[in-house]
Amino acid sequence: MANDCIFCKIVDGVIPSARVAESSDAIVIRDISPQAAQHYLVLPKTHVRSVAEAFDQGIGEKMVSSLYALAHQVVKQEGLLPNGFRTVINTEAGGGQTVFHLHLHILGGEQLRGSFA
Ligand code: AMP
Ligand code: ZN
Repeated sequence: MANDCIFCKIVDGVIPSARVAESSDAIVIRDISPQAAQHYLVLPKTHVRSVAEAFDQGIGEKMVSSLYALAHQVVKQEGLLPNGFRTVINTEAGGGQTVFHLHLHILGGEQLRGSFA
């Protein structure tokens, strides 16, 4: 666990959270400040700062694949299909990342606007 990483603390259960879904590699929680009617975060169980770092470390393909596999399970489980949803990975501060433990956003449950911002 990385020191002072809030998502590591959630993964390790130091901070309690309701898990929407879980696999051997990742968990899914609800975003504390939802930006859509339904907003989930898929967190890898292994700490890595960003998707860029994951690929730099040679673990990106496996990790991103496992995040999307669990996301696919969640969008079906939570009823985001067939209507649709959006997935987002913010990278570094300029890309809007505020928690520096890689995570995949899943947004849906309403008609999303066209903007990425
Ligand atoms: P990002 O800006 O891409 O790094 O996204 C970080 C997300 O984590 C934001 O949408 C926050 O609302 C969310 N977040 C921060 N702390 C928590 C928490 N304790 N539980 C759930 N979501 C959180
Ligand atoms: Zn972490």
